Amino acid sequence: MNSNSTPHPIVTDSLPPWQEILANTIRTTDKLCRLLEIDRQALPDTHPLVRQFPVRVPAPYLAKIKKGDPEDPLLQQVFPDIAEANEAPGYSADPLQESAHNPQPGILHKYKGRALLIATSSCAVHCRYCFRRHFPYSDNPPGKEGWKTSLDYIRQDTSIQEVIFSGGDPLTLPDSYLQWYLYEISTIPHVTRIRLHTRLPVMIPQRINKRLCELLENSRFQTILVLHSNHPQELDDETNSACQALKAAGVTLLNQSVLLKGVNDDADTLIRLSERLFAGGVMPYYLHLMDRVEGGAHFTVSDYDAGRLLAAMQQNLPGYLVPKLVREEPGEKSKTVLL
Ligand code: SF4
Repeated sequence: MNSNSTPHPIVTDSLPPWQEILANTIRTTDKLCRLLEIDRQALPDTHPLVRQFPVRVPAPYLAKIKKGDPEDPLLQQVFPDIAEANEAPGYSADPLQESAHNPQPGILHKYKGRALLIATSSCAVHCRYCFRRHFPYSDNPPGKEGWKTSLDYIRQDTSIQEVIFSGGDPLTLPDSYLQWYLYEISTIPHVTRIRLHTRLPVMIPQRINKRLCELLENSRFQTILVLHSNHPQELDDETNSACQALKAAGVTLLNQSVLLKGVNDDADTLIRLSERLFAGGVMPYYLHLMDRVEGGAHFTVSDYDAGRLLAAMQQNLPGYLVPKLVREEPGEKSKTVLL
């Protein structure tokens, strides 16, 4: 528990409830183009691609995208590209072979001491490079009944100290669900840390409301929130306020980015990202090489170029602002750090 009583800057009273924003995400490329003043007819037809992985963009993220610019780095992350249809050798539906670490529905157990809960299949946004874009969520049902079985798994394995809430995005769950889960996990003595992997402070900063902060502040856990931000343009004042509110609630804030061609594969962008994260109270943590997911090959940055970018960051930033460049290799006992 943290006794810090700094007021929470995000208060929902004057804002539409975050659930309403979540329910009204933009779900077609036509609407996206109309709102962004982009000529849809000038772009290739991507309707077949969105059947497998639909478009999803919440209004606060839309507001960060530059109007009239089809090359905007934020738009690139959410707008389907015709290249998704191309087959690429070595790219698959399950690039991390997670099915081999799915001992029962709702649980992924890859690394020692940590278990990951598939808290929900829902996200506020659909990132076109997502390594779980083909994940069999229907075999991993969320909901309290499914979760009870997951909690039993954690209860029985006393080596699990840390529970990672993932998905989908766990902060798309209502506070009442999170409260129930936190309570249930608090009855498992060997769990001391909770980690939340989320894009919500970037996508819908209003989600970081007073009730959520109080829930996290009042739990008995050390809580870590791993933000997923890829570009400094994503970090506006509202996102910074949300991060400050979490920090005031005693949450440790880290960021992981994915290195993406056409989005953030230049040194200046990555340097500004680290600086803006730190200004908002978030430590740059991981810079991931993209997982080789089917449909995402066009986002790949080569190891050579990634190394050059890391070197440029090291030359221009203090060491604590340089994230670890990592790749996840299926079957390895930890992430692989590239030097
Ligand atoms: S928010 Fe995370 S889980 Fe959801 S689509 Fe984006 S990368 Fe995938």
